[in-house]
Amino acid sequence: MRTGDEYLAALDDGRQVMIDGGTVTNVPEHPAFAGVARSVARLFDKAGHDSEMQTTDPRLGSAPVNRVFDLPRSPEDLAGRRKAITRWAELSNGYLGRTPDHVGSIFAAFDLGAEVFARGGEQFADNVRGFRRRIANESLYLTYTIIPPQDDRSKIGNEHHEPKQVHVVKERDDGIVLRGAQMLGTGAAVADYVFMTCLLPLKPGDEKFAISCVIPCAAPGLKWYSRTPYALGKPSVFDYPLSTRYDETDSLAVLDDVFVPWEHVFIYRDVELMRAQTAETEFRSFGNSQAQIRLAVKLKFLIGLAHRMVESNNVAQLPAVQEKLGELAALAATVEGMVHAAEATAVVIDGAYVPNRRFVFGAMALQADIYPRVLHLIRDLAGGGMIQTPSSVADLTSDETADDIARYYAASNSGAVERIKLFKLAWDAIGSELGGRHHQYEMFYAGPPFALKMLNAQNYGYHEPTTLVDRFLDTYDTDTKVTDQ
Ligand SMILES: Cc1cc2nc3c(=O)[nH]c(=O)nc-3n(C[C@H](O)[C@H](O)[C@H](O)COP(=O)(O)OP(=O)(O)OC[C@H]3O[C@@H](n4cnc5c(N)ncnc54)[C@H](O)[C@@H]3O)c2cc1C
Repeated sequence: MRTGDEYLAALDDGRQVMIDGGTVTNVPEHPAFAGVARSVARLFDKAGHDSEMQTTDPRLGSAPVNRVFDLPRSPEDLAGRRKAITRWAELSNGYLGRTPDHVGSIFAAFDLGAEVFARGGEQFADNVRGFRRRIANESLYLTYTIIPPQDDRSKIGNEHHEPKQVHVVKERDDGIVLRGAQMLGTGAAVADYVFMTCLLPLKPGDEKFAISCVIPCAAPGLKWYSRTPYALGKPSVFDYPLSTRYDETDSLAVLDDVFVPWEHVFIYRDVELMRAQTAETEFRSFGNSQAQIRLAVKLKFLIGLAHRMVESNNVAQLPAVQEKLGELAALAATVEGMVHAAEATAVVIDGAYVPNRRFVFGAMALQADIYPRVLHLIRDLAGGGMIQTPSSVADLTSDETADDIARYYAASNSGAVERIKLFKLAWDAIGSELGGRHHQYEMFYAGPPFALKMLNAQNYGYHEPTTLVDRFLDTYDTDTKVTDQ
């Protein structure tokens, strides 16, 4: 299986990642990306060395593949997938959001629903199946850009005066040429390919925007405009243990006549299929179950942080603190419980075990409320402790400052270094630029919160609840007596 070193070597491929007015040369060695690139490399090494993360599937060939890319064919497969995704998530405590298992899971769903793509021509279904095999066999790391750049959101496609959204500008015998922009490739600076499509509903007449395809992140003409990288200017892992290792970055894709060969195209100029690729496949059941498994790990980590902080302040047993810890535990258990419920009530579709939408979408719909509430509770428990930290690790060793730090930053139950280390980690998780970005990420990466709640309303399945109500309504009428039961 692919090793971390192979992944890192492949990243130095001339990709155009733009920061501070110029192009980054050699991404894996650049201080903005070196930390996160190595964190991703560790994922591949873990999968290669952990036999429980591996499986074989005759549909994919004879070589072992990473279970995170598996299309589960039994309850045991589905549980194995969850455990493999959990092991990966634990390597970053959920702080790498767009690990290769996210879009990899979506392509497993596309393989299962390939007949949707076949409606545009059998060759498109073949392209989907073929690329999914490559993802599993080559351990490819895909991100996605599936939303047009933020602009007037009351308009879509041709309704804009000068549409910026990615669109076809030329059709050739060997493929298509794309131009425009698309938001917001998390991890694009360090991924192999981007899955590019549009999840916002297009209208008839918008055919030139109705494209679904994959593009190498280093394709000629493709530029990645990264937001401010949070690892830059932070040389000390001790001061920023998460920013330095897990800033996966988010970038706007700008395409200046990018060529895409036909074998990488899955939908071409078909507005209806753009809707069907998510609505009629298990895109979200697989993609977002991966995301919820990751979130369950992250919430456990945050609860662990909260516990260590209140222990350090020796307030863990106070009733008011217990109340907040209890609420945190309930929120984390809700997400973890939904993960297990989606698995235990999996729906079998064409022989595949698919996490149950009721629980996957239910967890998604609550995510924008749960995550900010968790952050709020931890801030409440931390008080000024995350701010009462020295300016940098240098203060711990400098002759001028070390004695004061050792004396005044120690707690009655821990030394200064131990306490500062803990509270700096908490700040990076919650209050640093990276912490703030994670707040926004958990609220928005799967779509705006209102849309996720609407999606949940449309997928809950009302037969069971309405049957309960109708059955009860049938038990009485205008003339029913109390004794008629
Ligand atoms: C950290 C981060 C990472 C991301 N990574 C990726 C990625 O890797 N790939 C990717 O494709 N995308 C990514 N995204 C983008 C994400 O998909 C979008 O943020 C999301 O779909 C919402 O789109 P928007 O940001 O344009 O918000 P909008 O759609 O503009 O919504 C913002 C708010 O405006 C209001 N609003 C907008 N439209 C309506 C409406 N019709 N009805 C009612 N209210 C409305 C709501 O209050 C809504 O919450 C990421 C986003 C973040 C924050």
